[in-house]
Parts: sequence; C-alpha cells; structure tokens
Amino acid sequence: MTAAAIGRRTFGHKLLQTLNCTVQPVTSSLKTQPKPRPQKHRHVHTRAGDYLPTSLVGWTESQQSVREAISKICSQYGDEYWMEKDTHHSFPWEFYKDIAKNGWLGICLPEEYGGANLGLAEAAVMLQTVAESGACMNGASSIHMNIFGLAPVAKFGTAEQRKRWLVPLIQGQERACFGVTEPNTGLDTLKLQSSAVKKGGKYILSGQKIWISTAQIAEKILILVRTTPLDQVKKASHGLSLFYTDLDRSAVQVIEIPKMGRCAVDSNALFFDGWEVPAEDLIGEEGDGFKMIMHGMNAERVLVGSEALGIGYAALRRACNYVNERVVFGNPIGKYQGIQHPLAECWMQLESARLTLNVAANLFDQGYQDGDYANAGKFLAAEAAFKTADRAVMSLGGMGYAKEYHVERYLREATLSRIAPISAEMIKNYIGQKVLGLPRSY
Ligand SMILES: Cc1cc2nc3c(=O)[nH]c(=O)nc-3n(C[C@H](O)[C@H](O)[C@H](O)COP(=O)(O)OP(=O)(O)OC[C@H]3O[C@@H](n4cnc5c(N)ncnc54)[C@H](O)[C@@H]3O)c2cc1C
Repeated sequence: MTAAAIGRRTFGHKLLQTLNCTVQPVTSSLKTQPKPRPQKHRHVHTRAGDYLPTSLVGWTESQQSVREAISKICSQYGDEYWMEKDTHHSFPWEFYKDIAKNGWLGICLPEEYGGANLGLAEAAVMLQTVAESGACMNGASSIHMNIFGLAPVAKFGTAEQRKRWLVPLIQGQERACFGVTEPNTGLDTLKLQSSAVKKGGKYILSGQKIWISTAQIAEKILILVRTTPLDQVKKASHGLSLFYTDLDRSAVQVIEIPKMGRCAVDSNALFFDGWEVPAEDLIGEEGDGFKMIMHGMNAERVLVGSEALGIGYAALRRACNYVNERVVFGNPIGKYQGIQHPLAECWMQLESARLTLNVAANLFDQGYQDGDYANAGKFLAAEAAFKTADRAVMSLGGMGYAKEYHVERYLREATLSRIAPISAEMIKNYIGQKVLGLPRSY
C-alpha cells in the first residue's frame, strides 16, 4: 500500500478494512532466526524475537497500516544488504528509490504536492520500522530529511516555493541535507558564525558547517546562517535566516568525515566563501530562521527517538533468538538469569520509551508545542537502544563481536542517537529548567 492510500483512508473518512497480510522475515540468512508464526494478526504480546509485529499497544489503526506497509518494503532489504552498504560506505539507493516510489518520502507533507498528509505519529512508526528491520540509522538517515526536514518549507514557504521544492523532493528526484551545526559553536546554535549578506537579488554566504548528513548526494540544502550580527540584535535568536537552495559544489567545498557507524550515509564538513544564493531561496522573513527551525525540533526529537527504538528492538530480537538456541553448559544460555534478566530490563526500557514517544507524537499532532515529552522520549529511547545493543553484543559472546551477527553494527549505530541531534546532557538541561524549574547552569 502506498503512503497516499493510507493518507486518504485515514483522513478521508475511516479505515475501510483492517490489514491482514503476513510480513516476511528480513533475515532468512540468519540461522538463529525462527520462522514467523503462521498467524495473520499478531497480538500485543508478540515475542521480542519476532520480526516487526504489526500491533503494538497504543498504536492507532493508521499507525498499524503504516507499520505493515513499511515492513513489506523493508523485508526486501535484509541485514546482509545493510551490512554490505555499511561496509562499502555506499548509499542505499535501491531502498531509497523503493520508499520514494511508494510515496513514503512525503508522509507528512501536504497532499497537493504529492504527500500523504499523515501525522508525526505515523512518521514515527515509519522510521522505527525502517530501523527495526535491521536497517538502523543507515536506512533511517537515508530518508530522514525528507520525512520532516522540510516542515519549515511546508509551513512558512510561499505557495510558489512549496511547489518548486516539495514536489521533486517527494518524488525522490531531489535530495536535501540540513546545515545547522558549526565546528566553532556546536550545540550553542545561536552563536553560529556563518553569515549571509544581501547584495541586490542575492545573498552572499560565507562560513562553515560540520556533520552535514547526505551532503555527498544531496542537490539541495536547508541552511541556517546569520543575516544580522549577534551584537546588533535584541535577542540572540533574532537575526538568523533560513534558506533552501542548491548545494552549489562550485561554491561549497564538501569534505566527507570518516566515522564510527552509519557508514552508508555520509557526514561532511562544508566550507563556503562568496557563495551566491538567490533571494527567492530565503524562507519566510529575514531574521526569523531560528523560529522556523524550532518549529520542527520537537518532531525531530520524536523521529530520532523512534529510529533509536527500532535499533533497540532489532538488537533485542537478535539477542533473544540467539540465547534461545545457543547451548553452553547443557542449557540454552537464555535460561541463565545473568543473560535473561538484563534482556528483560531492555524490553521494559524500550517499551517505556516507545509509549512516551507515542504520547509525544500524538501531542505534537494535536498542536502541543512544548518539548517535555519529545525530549524525554528521545532520551529514554536513545539510552534504551544503546543499552540493548550493548546487551545484545554481550549476550552473543564472541559472536556479538563478529560482523556476521550484525549486533556490533547495531551498537555502533545506537551510539549516534545519544549524540545527535541533541545530546543527553542538553536534554537533561531542558528537563531540569523547563519541567523542574531549576536554574540554568550555562
Ligand atoms: C553522524 C552525525 C550526523 C549529523 N548530522 C547532522 C546534520 O545533518 N546536520 C546538522 O546540522 N548537524 C548534524 N550533526 C551534528 C549534531 O547535531 C551535533 O554533533 C550535536 O548536536 C552535538 O554538537 P557538537 O558535536 O558540536 O557537540 P558540542 O556542542 O561540542 O558538545 C560536546 C559535549 O559537551 C556537552 N555539552 C555542551 N554544552 C553543554 C552544557 N551546557 N551542559 C552540559 N553538557 C554540555 C554535550 O552534551 C556533548 O556531550 C550530526 C552529527 C553526527 C555525529
């Protein structure tokens, strides 16, 4: 089923039917992977070792429909596919094109430009499912920017801009990257140093960005730069402007950064000096860029949290299946509490994070703008995913360290969600100040 069909079914009147297709296992090559049970509908108490159960507590029918449709696509791209892409640092074009062909790149974008107009709750399920299939961040990051990254364009762009930019993005003809982080300022975004100066019908951009995902393959960039110097604005959040423009490689030097994981999707440093950007590529009013970026921040937290969750569940599946079958000292090692109890804790922590993220996504879809649940969900999911991936490696013993069983890749990829787009420390700062009312420490 395509994204548009689910969008129509959800927002037209009501879901016409419940889906009852059986999902194929993604890892037929894995010896320890049991065959899926022959039931058509899976229950809420599906075992953690099962592949992508359709029905999880708290999900609406429309979320379940998304889960089932995305599972079908993902089942064609097993762990071996992702390991190969990760090892050779090659972008997963086949997967990306498949997602685009079925209309999923516009899951949250307006129908008039080819999107499905579904909510954050559905997008969260989509990205959790992609990651949970074994694709992890390699799969999720290959499409992530399309899912919610262009929310500022959809909300603040003119009708002409939306048509010009959203249509090719949703069709998978153009790819976008997102340029906020800078080497000299890091998480202190308001101090970013890249600038844009207006000259006639153009802005001249100079500066640098770091860690920009997919800049090797993107045609477009959504970039935040300062148009009024910091010492000339009343508030530090003023004077930043947002552009969506061609990533002009004759003006921007793009240098890939070798890194620990998520190797199928590139990360880059960008250097530019005298880069001419047409004034019609400015989004909204000059100086309002930070406000527009903030609009999508809570959604971003929910989506990255959901991707982390997917990795955690994938790791738990691998671990449970392995420890059920691996016999040492005459018993399956899953019988030993030293192995079983930590995995039980992982499930509880993953599931708590999933429920929190689901609340955050639904609140967002209802117009709630505070970041308490989105931040909490992202933090809980990232920590739970990392812990689970680590437990999976330890549960598999030596085989946990072998590429063949994939959990070492999961562990490398789970690390990323603790760092980006916001670190655990900054989330705790937010909760400390905004929820607990404690003084700011920085
Ligand atoms: C693989 C990858 C992909 C990325 N993709 C993108 C992208 O596409 N676009 C983009 O713009 N950015 C991207 N990022 C950047 C990412 O969002 C940042 O790395 C992240 O926000 C952290 O910023 P930083 O690395 O500058 O850390 P720093 O700001 O240098 O912080 C370093 C450490 O200090 C801690 N710290 C800093 N200030 C405080 C404080 N006040 N209190 C407590 N602790 C503090 C942080 O929590 C962190 O642990 C990506 C990063 C990675 C690793």
